[in-house]
Amino acid sequence: MSIKVRIPTPLQKLTNNNIEVECEGTNVRELIINLDKKYPGIKERIYDENNNLRRFINFFVNDKDIRFLQGDKTELKDGDELSIIPAIAGGAGLTEEQIERYSRQIILPEVGGKGQEKILNAKVLIIGCGGLGAPCAYYLAAAGVGKIGLVDSDKVELNNLQRQITHFMKDVGKHKTESTKEKLESINSDIKIVTYPLRVTSNNIMDIIKEYDIIVDGSDNFPTRYLVNDACVISKKPLSHAGILRFDGQITTIIPNFGPCYRCIFPDPPPVGMVPSCQEAGILGVVAGVLGVLQATEVLKYILGKGELLVGKLLVFNSLEMSFRKLNIQRSEECPVCGKNPTIKELIDYEQFCQVKS
Ligand SMILES: [Zn+2]
Repeated sequence: MSIKVRIPTPLQKLTNNNIEVECEGTNVRELIINLDKKYPGIKERIYDENNNLRRFINFFVNDKDIRFLQGDKTELKDGDELSIIPAIAGGAGLTEEQIERYSRQIILPEVGGKGQEKILNAKVLIIGCGGLGAPCAYYLAAAGVGKIGLVDSDKVELNNLQRQITHFMKDVGKHKTESTKEKLESINSDIKIVTYPLRVTSNNIMDIIKEYDIIVDGSDNFPTRYLVNDACVISKKPLSHAGILRFDGQITTIIPNFGPCYRCIFPDPPPVGMVPSCQEAGILGVVAGVLGVLQATEVLKYILGKGELLVGKLLVFNSLEMSFRKLNIQRSEECPVCGKNPTIKELIDYEQFCQVKS
């Protein structure tokens, strides 16, 4: 005697993704007990602690609802088909594994199942897999951001390991995008990681950013910073900007045409040599971590539509004083890219721009 059982999506994980399984039983209860022997965990999903059928699940023998037959004592005969139909909230919904994995954030009212679905559907591009990008990517992958793009043309060097936490000793010499992808996938195989082992330029950036909802700038040089800002403003993509040096960091969130952009704050780059790079002046590893994690926080808030973003604010961090100062910044009418009469309507040569200004 064999009964066909139609398994609903939320339970398919327990039946090795089988939509339909065969099982034996003279009535529904016996069948479910036998099913649990084959696929442990099914019974507790179907029966509550008092051994009553859970009320959000309906059962049909062939096309008849067992509530109008003999409940779980409804008899079964060879060739019958039992359909298990739980209530579903609509949409793709979360799988059991996703609910478990993200339970500590789903429990937050500001996130909940809906917010988690937003995170799973979000697409975030991280430019630079270094001191800022690595911790940022790490937390976004852990939170379940569905698609993460990683841009970096560099290979891992030994001196990166002090702060770029997605690279391990065995990765020295490997592309940073590959090394980061490997780690993110081992945290969370539920998400898609796309790598771009290249340097963004005026020629390629528009094509890359158009695939994403929000961009994280974790780059380490002025030409890239101005390029990313202008590309995001022109294509109206939100941008999380952060910079770090020695014991200090600064971060702002740019929503084009809504708050100030990077050029509203810093219209011109500093002359070459005036502001040293981390390579020249050093950086305390944890400062990169603090700022990268703040960028991930801004990204998650943006995806969820919760809280106040750092739009129109420059948050300045000093680790020696352990101070955070939030400064007001404004849109500039004179801004060459988002001002009243923008002079930059398409991308320029940023290497040249940063040289000329020196
Ligand atoms: Zn601007």
